[in-house]
Amino acid sequence: MSKKRGHCLCGQVSFEYDGPENWRGHCHCESCRRNTSSAFSTFMGVPCKTSRFTGAVPAVYESSPGVRRLFCANCGTPMAYESDRYPDEIHFYAASLENPGDFEPDFHVHFAERLPWADINDGLPRHDHGGGA
Ligand SMILES: [Zn+2]
Ligand SMILES: [Zn+2]
Repeated sequence: MSKKRGHCLCGQVSFEYDGPENWRGHCHCESCRRNTSSAFSTFMGVPCKTSRFTGAVPAVYESSPGVRRLFCANCGTPMAYESDRYPDEIHFYAASLENPGDFEPDFHVHFAERLPWADINDGLPRHDHGGGA
């Protein structure tokens, strides 16, 4: 798999990763919804050792103990999710990829928390709890 790159709205924060993702999925949990002001968030889990930030250092908001949500301090774009539960992994947002269409999500997590108007009919597995994000 070739290198993938992504960036925030203003372009100051950027990232890249080399290897395959560990997983790809949609998260419907309330924390992610509030953090992104969106109906759900689409993430990929990537090993820390194959990924890196390549521009400005993102700002960090600790949304709960041991959970860090990284964002661009200039434009506010959510950029990544880190948790002490997954010390070797960082979760980037699929929509911030330079080619976001070049992505295939595999499942939904926290589906029980989804907004009633988020009508999902993609046929992917739905998990009511847990998962990567
Ligand atoms: Zn930015
Ligand atoms: Zn979530």
